[in-house]
Amino acid sequence: MTFRKFAFLLPLLAALGLPAAPVSPDLAPPTVGVLLKFEHKPSPGFLKLLQSEVGAIFRPSRLDLRWEMLRPDRSPGVYNRLAVVEMRGTCAPGANSSSSQTSTRLGWTNVADGEVQPYITIDCDHIAQVLASTWNHSASRHLAPPLYARLTARVMVHELIHVLLRTSAHHDSDCARSPLRSLDLGFQPRLSGPEVTALQRIGREPGTAIARAAAR
Ligand SMILES: [Zn+2]
Repeated sequence: MTFRKFAFLLPLLAALGLPAAPVSPDLAPPTVGVLLKFEHKPSPGFLKLLQSEVGAIFRPSRLDLRWEMLRPDRSPGVYNRLAVVEMRGTCAPGANSSSSQTSTRLGWTNVADGEVQPYITIDCDHIAQVLASTWNHSASRHLAPPLYARLTARVMVHELIHVLLRTSAHHDSDCARSPLRSLDLGFQPRLSGPEVTALQRIGREPGTAIARAAAR
C-alpha cells in the first residue's frame, strides 16, 4: 500500500459484483494466524490498539484472527491460513518521522512467480512520517498514538486482504484502495460487502478463484 497526498486513483478494476454464495453458519470460521515480527519492541499499548483496530475491521468477515509474536525458539501454531508480518522500523508516532524516505510504500506483500506469498512488510517509520506530515497541524498530541495505530492497522488489513484472497489487485474500496488518499486517514475503514463475502469463503475454496470472481 502506498500513500499519495490528494491522489484520487481510479480503480484498476471495477469493484465488485461478486454473487453472494451461501455460507453455512454451522461451519466454524477459518483460523488466520497473524505472526508478528518487530524490528523494535513495540509498546504494549500500541500492540493492543493495533490488534483491536484490525480485529474491528475484520469482524464482519467472522475470520478467527489469532495473533502470535514470531520467535526463533518456538514453532508457530497451526492455522487454516497464515500471514507473517514484519514490522520494520519503530512502531510509534514521531519515531523517525523526519527521516528521508525513498520509498512511497507504507506496506507491501511479497509476490513470487505471480503468486501472492504470505509475507507482509510494514514500514512503521514511513507510517509515522505520513502521520506527522498530515496531522501535525490539526491533531493534538494525545491523539497521535490512536491515530498511528489506526493507520498502521489500515495498512495491515490492506496487506492481509492481499494474502487472504491471494490477489495483488486493488479496488476502490476502503481496504483495497492504493494509494491511500489523505482523506482516508480521517475515518475507520470498513470492508465492502463483496470483500466480506470473499473473506467468508476462504478456506472453503481456492483464494485465486475468489479473487477472479471478485474482479468480474
Ligand atoms: Zn496493495
